[in-house]
Amino acid sequence: MEVQNYRDPELARRIAAKIREVTPQTGSFKFCHVCGTHEWTITHYGIRSLLPENVEVIAGPGCPVCIVPAAEIDESVQLAQKGMVMTCFGDLLRVPGSNGSLLDAKAQGADVRIVYSLTDAVEMARKEPEKEFVFFAVGFETTAPATAVEVLKAPPKNFSFLVAHRLIPPAMELLLGVGDLNIDGFIAPGHVSAIIGMKPYELFPRVYRMPTVVAGFEPIDVLMSLYMLMKQLKEKKPRLENEYSRVVKWEGNPKALELMDQAFTVTGGNWRGIGRLPDSAYKLRDELAEYDAHAKFGVKIEQGKDILLGCECHLVIIGKIKPDKCPMFMKACTPQKPVGACMVSSEGTCRVWAKAVATSKPLKP
Ligand code: SF4
Repeated sequence: MEVQNYRDPELARRIAAKIREVTPQTGSFKFCHVCGTHEWTITHYGIRSLLPENVEVIAGPGCPVCIVPAAEIDESVQLAQKGMVMTCFGDLLRVPGSNGSLLDAKAQGADVRIVYSLTDAVEMARKEPEKEFVFFAVGFETTAPATAVEVLKAPPKNFSFLVAHRLIPPAMELLLGVGDLNIDGFIAPGHVSAIIGMKPYELFPRVYRMPTVVAGFEPIDVLMSLYMLMKQLKEKKPRLENEYSRVVKWEGNPKALELMDQAFTVTGGNWRGIGRLPDSAYKLRDELAEYDAHAKFGVKIEQGKDILLGCECHLVIIGKIKPDKCPMFMKACTPQKPVGACMVSSEGTCRVWAKAVATSKPLKP
C-alpha cells in the first residue's frame, strides 16, 4: 500500500477497524514498545483511544536518558567537581544522581556545558588545550555511531568520553522475564533498527514465540504495526516483520555497525530502575583507553541511588504502571520541577504524558 499521508485520520480509522476485525473478543492483549518517540506518537495522537478495549500498549525502557543509572550521573558530577569540563546534550543536565544533577554541579561553580553536537565539544577542547574535556555519551544504538566516529578520528589528548551507551534488544529480553507483565508482542524501535537491522530481533519470535514488528514513528506506522502484531497473534504464527521498510533494511547500516565494532566492545551494563543486564552496554575498546574518561580519571562509584523516595520510575520504565498512577505525577513532579528521570527527558514516559495533557491532537476521524 502506497501511503501519501502518514497522519491521515481516514486511513487511521480504516486501520483501526482492521485491528478490531482481527482482535478476538475474548482475552486481553498487551503490546510493548521500547521507544520514547513511539510513546510520544501514541500519546500525542490518542492512538490508545482508537484500539479495542482489550488491547493495551505499554511503554518499556525506551528513553536513553532515563535509564542512565545514578552511579554514572554521580561519576559525571564528580568529574565536573574535580575540574574537568563536562559536556553533554541538554536533556542530561537535570537527570538526578544520588546527590544532585550536573545542573546542580554547574550552579555550584563546576564547568558544565551543553553542546548541540559532539563535534562542538571536540572543537571546544581544541580551543582550550589547557583544560580537560569530557563528553557524556548517552543513547541507544542510534547515537552510538556518532561517538564511534568521533573517537576513531583521534580527538585531542585533552578530550575523553564517559560512555553510557546501551543496547535495546537485551532490555526487550528482560521484559519477557518480568513475571506478571505478560507481553503479547513487541513494537521494535525504527531508528535503532535503522542501525542494527532486523537480525538482533530474530530471537523474539524464534525463542520466545513473541510477535515482533519494527515500526516507524508516524501514527499510521504505529497503527499498522499493531495490526500486524494482532494478525500474527490471531494466526498463531509469531514472526519478525518490518513495517518501516522505507528506512530500515534487514542488514541495518553496515558502515555504522563497522565503526561501532571498531570503537566498542559489548559488556554488561546497569540500567536505572532495572539493574544489571548482560551484554547491554558499549565500552570503548582497550586500545582507545586514552579516550575513556572512566579509565583516564579513575573515579569509582560503587552504587548510586537510582530511585528517589516516592518516585515510581522503576515501574514506569518497565511498563508496569502508567505515569498517572504515580502519586507525584503533575503534583510534586512536573516538567518544570522533575523528581524522577522519566520526567526530565523529552523521551521520558512521564514527560511525554505531561506534555500530552497540553498538546495532544487525537486522530479521531
Ligand atoms: Fe518518577 Fe515523576 Fe514519573 Fe512519578 S511522575 S514516576 S516521580 S518521574
